[in-house]
Amino acid sequence: MTPYLPIVPQVASFRPEHGRCLLSRGLQWSTPSTASLPLALSDQIDNWLTRVKPSSTPDNSIKLRFQRCDNATKNGSDLPDESYRLTIEQHTITAEAASEAGWFYAFQSLKQAVDAVWHQPHPSLPVGTVEDYPRFPWRGAMLDSARHIQSVDWIKGFLDRMASLKLNRFHWHLSDDEGWRAEIRSHPQLTDIGAWRAQGNTRYGGYFTQNQMHDIVAYARDRHIQVIPEIEMPGHCNAALAANPQLACTNETITILSPLERLPMSQRPDRRAFCAANEGVYQLIADVLSELADVFDAPYLHIGGDETPRNTWEQCPRCQRLMQQEGYATTDELRTHFLRRVHEIALTKLNRTTIAWTEKVRDDLPDEQLTHAWFPGEAAAAARLGRTTINSNHEWTYLDYPSNTSEARDRPDWMIILPIEKIYHFDPLPEGLEEKLHRLILGSEAPIWTEYTPDEASLDQQIMPRLAAFAEALWSPRLGRSYDGFLLRWDAINRRPEPAHPSQPAAPATTSI
Ligand SMILES: [Zn+2]
Repeated sequence: MTPYLPIVPQVASFRPEHGRCLLSRGLQWSTPSTASLPLALSDQIDNWLTRVKPSSTPDNSIKLRFQRCDNATKNGSDLPDESYRLTIEQHTITAEAASEAGWFYAFQSLKQAVDAVWHQPHPSLPVGTVEDYPRFPWRGAMLDSARHIQSVDWIKGFLDRMASLKLNRFHWHLSDDEGWRAEIRSHPQLTDIGAWRAQGNTRYGGYFTQNQMHDIVAYARDRHIQVIPEIEMPGHCNAALAANPQLACTNETITILSPLERLPMSQRPDRRAFCAANEGVYQLIADVLSELADVFDAPYLHIGGDETPRNTWEQCPRCQRLMQQEGYATTDELRTHFLRRVHEIALTKLNRTTIAWTEKVRDDLPDEQLTHAWFPGEAAAAARLGRTTINSNHEWTYLDYPSNTSEARDRPDWMIILPIEKIYHFDPLPEGLEEKLHRLILGSEAPIWTEYTPDEASLDQQIMPRLAAFAEALWSPRLGRSYDGFLLRWDAINRRPEPAHPSQPAAPATTSI
């Protein structure tokens, strides 16, 4: 069998040579004075080496060196430079990269490969050279914390898993009909009221303070992951409206929904939208986005935009007057009006680009706004309109869908079965899309909606290993990889005894008496 490295996602190229690098001699790492590693990465390497520390003397150890180079691979791409080269020799391992992200990914690859063999009696890696870089710059996962909330610790563990799979965008769904999860200091009612719902005989809820969100952003930054918050509008906003009923079209009590109804969200009769003609709505959203822009340093804000219930817009005298004034024939145009106004606020006041889910992609949306396609065919349609697009085609990427018929028994009828092998073969580039438009497809995100994954244990079961298959679909070249090869590498990586959680502090030293 040709020597291979147990790394997921598969590296772009590995050229094996004769010989083995015997890891039982231990590893000592260093970096030349011209290349100082970021402190966060140094700490992560030190932390890892405490687990795979040598028993031999330092002089006899394998030397692990991190070096800077101008260009780690010659892939000629204009992608952000996340590339690296890893040269494994008998006595040294050299990681070279032109960027901090490249060093970080070199370390992720090395850590996976070493951890996979470390438990063996004589652990070793094949000698050879890895040259690696991503196929797509946008490699994300979306977590729904609105339908059900997770702990900060669980989210950090999720970020660790994302980082080890070289995923670099954490899209955080923080508001919906079922709950508002982000502390907004200028509008405390959003969490005082919007974060809590009746669920059966109990009160369910919770939210993230700004300090907690800051902590998660910093933790992600150390792992080269951008965190993009999402606030849903103009629909999926019952929780916000329950806290601010004056911002709805009608004068009624608005219920924070329970996620356990089995109807598709678009068919729930009690869903409401923000009134598109109420200036107070745009003021609230400006305040919310402004506070979030202080917490989240990514250049993007996700503003939802999908499944807007239009029934109250059609009855609302103010919305109807606005449509007349602007000459809008349909509520589709009113939705675009809403999203354009919010986009202007984000761009001009906060210097942020917005992202919005498509309904049916239209050519009157703001040019700079990223299109987040989730229906089949929408990514290609968006690219053909010249729009920069993230392709989360739900038939291939929704990790909340059951992976087999037995799981499907507990799920509503509208969920399709999404086996891991199908995710593995997902191509973010839509079939038939003209090659000159490929550059408009930034990549993809795998969403995990949580209506039916109420707790962290069910999330864990739902996510892995399908997220690993998704990561390989986004990072690795289409040619030269196979699903069987993925299973072989994934099995090698996970056969070892589970290492301690990297974010856990070391156990306090005990004193013997
Ligand atoms: Zn209205």
